[in-house]
Amino acid sequence: MRALVIHAPHDLRVEDFFAEVGDLGPEDVLVRMAAGGICGSDLHYYHHGGFGTVRVKQPMALGHEASGHVEAVGSAVKHVAKGDLVAVNPSHPCGTCPSCQRGAFNHCENMIFNGSAMRFPHVQGLFREKISVPQNRVFKIAAPVSAAEAALCEPFSVALHAAKQAGDLKGKRVLVSGCGPIGVLMIVAARLAGASHIAATDITAHSLAVAAKFGCDDCLDVSKGAEVLAPYTENRGQIDVVFECSGAPPAMASALQTLRPQGRIVLVGLGGDAPVPVNMIVAKELEIVGTFRFDLEFARAAELISSRTVDLRPMISASFPMAEAVEAFTQASDRTRATKVVINLS
Ligand SMILES: [Zn+2]
Ligand SMILES: [Zn+2]
Repeated sequence: MRALVIHAPHDLRVEDFFAEVGDLGPEDVLVRMAAGGICGSDLHYYHHGGFGTVRVKQPMALGHEASGHVEAVGSAVKHVAKGDLVAVNPSHPCGTCPSCQRGAFNHCENMIFNGSAMRFPHVQGLFREKISVPQNRVFKIAAPVSAAEAALCEPFSVALHAAKQAGDLKGKRVLVSGCGPIGVLMIVAARLAGASHIAATDITAHSLAVAAKFGCDDCLDVSKGAEVLAPYTENRGQIDVVFECSGAPPAMASALQTLRPQGRIVLVGLGGDAPVPVNMIVAKELEIVGTFRFDLEFARAAELISSRTVDLRPMISASFPMAEAVEAFTQASDRTRATKVVINLS
């Protein structure tokens, strides 16, 4: 069965990789994959063979943002049927480790997460023809929502989880630093949670234009410096919550200056080490919190997308057939023209 497999940096192949799916268990759903979104982590595997200490050590099918059509169901499956469009949740916590026991499923110590090289052997990804998954990992998406939109359930779950990490956002003034796919979804999630004013920064006109389409109140071009943030730094800071999605250390430093005393910054972008202005954190009593993947937010993301309560079509920049995956990855890497690039897996 065909899949999109990373072998080494810039060695991405469409090849016969998986055995055909065998008999389904009673709780299993066989999904013929339809659309896969290229994520920042997929791009890291493609360009660098990994990120941080994570390295691709064996051929791995990429992909954790994906959707497909149900092809067959096990005898006990009731909530989906043949032909349904479903979003596939790539996250499969064990349910029994100490993190799972205290309800922090995204921190599961035995996490199976598709398309991730964090464990060895790696957990194979969703950019493939078909997969069999337990029924609790598929979420029905209603017509006329497309497979590409359905594939956005995963990154939208990430944004919903990050919004939760910020605490109550009702009436809050928010700054989103960096308007790649996650930054754009942060704007959507913050608005849903009741933020009253959302400013966003980026260095490309393309990303800022997409941010504007999603209702960002103040789209700030920081390509020539952070001076445009000056109004938000007045009187020790005007912003209640920052979502740092750029992963760029200088962006984090300037974002901290916009935070009012006792404000909070949620670090969403995966970064390396960054210098931290400890004086400012102490004197303004700032809170720095991380956010990692998602937990039960996937079901909510699927509901919101399925009902078009959120319409994410404006962030889908292009889609390519699997055979043109290299072009898809090249375009997805170019933030001057792409937000989310989707691969057609069927
Ligand atoms: Zn992702
Ligand atoms: Zn666990």
